[in-house]
Amino acid sequence: MTIHTVAVIGSGIMGAGIAEVAASHGHPVLVYDINADAISRAIDGIRGRLESRVARGKLGAHDAEQTLLRLVPVTDIHSLAVADLVIEAASEQMAVKKALFTQLAEICPAKTLLTSNTSSISITAIAADLRHPERVAGLHFFNPAPVMKLVEVVSGLATSEEVVAQLMELATRWGKQPVRCHSTPGFIVNRVARPYYAEAWRALEEQVAAPEVIDAALREGAGFPMGPLELTDMIGQDVNFAVTCSVFNAFWQERRFLPSLVQQELVLAGRFGKKSGQGVYNWRNEKPAVNWFEHVAGSDSVTQQQKRSDGVTDIGGVLLIETQGETAQALANRYAQPVVVFDRQEADVTVIAAAASNPTAATLKAVGYFQQQGKRVLQVADYPGLIIWRTVAMIVNEALDALQKGVASEQDIDTAMRLGVNYPRGPLAWGEQLGWQRLLILLENLQRHYGEERYRPSSLLRQRALLESSYES
Ligand code: NAD
Repeated sequence: MTIHTVAVIGSGIMGAGIAEVAASHGHPVLVYDINADAISRAIDGIRGRLESRVARGKLGAHDAEQTLLRLVPVTDIHSLAVADLVIEAASEQMAVKKALFTQLAEICPAKTLLTSNTSSISITAIAADLRHPERVAGLHFFNPAPVMKLVEVVSGLATSEEVVAQLMELATRWGKQPVRCHSTPGFIVNRVARPYYAEAWRALEEQVAAPEVIDAALREGAGFPMGPLELTDMIGQDVNFAVTCSVFNAFWQERRFLPSLVQQELVLAGRFGKKSGQGVYNWRNEKPAVNWFEHVAGSDSVTQQQKRSDGVTDIGGVLLIETQGETAQALANRYAQPVVVFDRQEADVTVIAAAASNPTAATLKAVGYFQQQGKRVLQVADYPGLIIWRTVAMIVNEALDALQKGVASEQDIDTAMRLGVNYPRGPLAWGEQLGWQRLLILLENLQRHYGEERYRPSSLLRQRALLESSYES
């Protein structure tokens, strides 16, 4: 079946973006909303964006004009009968979506594809009780839809393979990178990304470091485009908290998705982030400067260093240990020597934590050693797994859980996280590089330290770690 006419329901942020994508790829687009003002606002917004692209020489004036001519405002839902594909992007409420799809199933012929841009509502539930539920699917764009490449094509229990294939092909023609996934809470991106936020809130809650330090560690130390806390300020604390609560409840209150009380306080206070002027940060003021370690005087004098067979570096009586999820104090007790643990080093940033029993001079010696290697050093409280290792391990663990449960393929999970939230690497490829056994040890140590279900390694991580060790032996 050829998809010619597209209808978009709801002309808010997402609906307007999706209508722009479809119209600029040659489709007549029916733009429908219960609020007529929203339709004109959407079309004005698209006109503005197209004009700005013309002004910047990115688009021809004629093409912009043709795209605009393809947008047809409609205020009667019955006009959608002529559409080959409907993309619903109305408010995120089950009752609203159910009512709309019930109407659509009556109005549109059986061949019309009915899709929803929902971020969290079950596609299976939307399709239940409808005539021809096999033509109902999720078509989940990311914001801003004209810019973001990723589209999650979501199938419910009744969705047919042909419908999925058609939507994959269409998204590709629209210049998008589609991934397929099953209708499970959060689909791929909103599920696998949860630990990125959750571990940052946890670090803040445990007073491990200031927000700007947590953000700098992940942004500058691990290559994430934005730190997790500043990102929640951009998304909106209300929106990000609502997604977390929705995923948490949809997973029967699974502990690893537990929402944060710190974030809830921000939401209750109306500190929604950039849009309200204040969130984690006060956006009316300069961002606080990151407290990098000053150059340690005499740091060039660390000459003695010995790399031991167990991977520990001894710099004249101070042990430097890359974190495997134990605190520096636990290690200092074991070795009966001063210990500084350090985080994953992906860039010129080293995050360290020192045992409370260390003499100050011992910790400074370690700082000097890292500075000598050209690293900028951040110190955080003595915290198991530090910031980067712990966050990445939890993301990889979640990706493995989604893979094991058949949410999507390995490749699609990695693509989704690279394109949907711009992670520097797909979590499964990252896990392979970091080593499954190492990740397993880290999570087991965290689980032991906290005694919490939250850090339980996924069953697939255990299996991959076993396989990895079988290759080594
Ligand atoms: P929005 O609030 O900006 O727009 C929603 C629009 O839907 C409004 O114009 C409203 O008048 C209209 N509407 C409400 N009920 C309607 C009905 N019964 N019939 C027709 N129109 C109706 O919302 P949004 O941010 O564009 O989100 C829309 C959908 O996209 C939601 O399901 C949301 O979860 C999903 N989504 C949002 C984002 C995002 O970043 N905003 C990203 C991906 C998916």
